[in-house]
Amino acid sequence: MAEGNFRCVELEMDWNVTRPAPPRPEATAAEVERAMREVREAREQVFSEIDRMRDDAVEFFRSIVKIPSVNPSDEWEKPLADYLAREFRSMGMDVDQIEPEPGRVSNVARLKGAGGKARSLLFNSHLDTVPAGDESAWRFPPFSATVHEGKIFGRGAKDCKLGIAASVMALRAIQNCRIRLKGDTLVSTTADEETGGHLGIHKLIEAGLIKADWAVYGEGMPDKITIGHKGLLQLRITTRGVTAHTARKPAAVNAILKMNRIVPAIDSLYVPGVEPHPVVPGFPVASVNMISGGFKENVIPDRCSIVVDIRFPPTCTVRQIMDEVNRRLDSIRCTDAHLGGTHIDPVEPLVVARASSISSEEPVVKFLQACVGEVLGTRPSAQGMEATSDSRWILLDAGIPVANYSLGNESGHSPNEYVGIEDYIRNIKVYALMALASCRPA
Ligand SMILES: [Zn+2]
Repeated sequence: MAEGNFRCVELEMDWNVTRPAPPRPEATAAEVERAMREVREAREQVFSEIDRMRDDAVEFFRSIVKIPSVNPSDEWEKPLADYLAREFRSMGMDVDQIEPEPGRVSNVARLKGAGGKARSLLFNSHLDTVPAGDESAWRFPPFSATVHEGKIFGRGAKDCKLGIAASVMALRAIQNCRIRLKGDTLVSTTADEETGGHLGIHKLIEAGLIKADWAVYGEGMPDKITIGHKGLLQLRITTRGVTAHTARKPAAVNAILKMNRIVPAIDSLYVPGVEPHPVVPGFPVASVNMISGGFKENVIPDRCSIVVDIRFPPTCTVRQIMDEVNRRLDSIRCTDAHLGGTHIDPVEPLVVARASSISSEEPVVKFLQACVGEVLGTRPSAQGMEATSDSRWILLDAGIPVANYSLGNESGHSPNEYVGIEDYIRNIKVYALMALASCRPA
């Protein structure tokens, strides 16, 4: 099934991570406390540098919002990737770029550490954004990066240019303070997240360019660290009828009417035997999100297709879902002569994305919680989410435990997407502290 469709490549890949059990919580707590104590002085220096850099940081943020990186578009992510590569090189970082298809550029930049007992840390964020949509719904042009009432407005501001800007500024602030870190710090900025990451983070990992002990993904909300997500399976189901002129209706079989039987049965999909997952909430959910059928007002349609979007927790497999979908189609086939035999095409997978999660006891989670706590005064909870993320590649294929966190908001994918400048500045501080605590001043 799905042969040759690169969006289904994960059907053939590893679905399970075998990570070593995290250390005892008391041991991690002690390590976090020690790290925070050791970096206290450096932290004060870096935080006041971040306050001093405020205007530069805002200008940098605006500069990357002004470079569109819409998925899809003619130039794709390349202009923004090239701009950032120049920025990384000006910071003395080594930059690797890949371009698996024209315009689909991803970068990974590395600042070599001095060596010694410390972690290496990867900040990952994606370059691509969804289109601006109806521009008349925007208060300001979507690529103007207008500053208004303490916010920066623009497509991609929150999703995910906040993560990019905050990680670049965090490393720049540390450099401005002439602090050299022991561990390597990496920043990857990737293409194709909005469509699954197959041409972005996946290709960087395949090329062997993503190597670090811990990863922070620059997406999320201030009050929670996301440590797991659902998987995704998108399917096409097609019914076949018999076409005829409307005037010869008795000779025809209307494929749209046949599809009418299938839509509610698939939209209400329930996959039996799926256990609740300790981190990722919810059970498999299916939604029939697209339908197409018919091609002419006076011709009875012989073909109708639906696209179904299914999200599932790590306790469920694609095989279980396909079995249930086929079972439901079979029971419809039995009740209608025209739905038997070849009247329903074999179910066609269009996109597959694996679910993934880590334990909330992983040290990267505890360190990040402590860093957020130092900046915001409250510790975010660590939990899974019902959406899907391309962070799965980082965990499942690069073997790096990854936590998603930014001081974002709910405006991603909407008109008037924005980031609060105060949130952005605090986000820079969280990332800078995470780099200090993980990679340790030399
Ligand atoms: Zn995003």
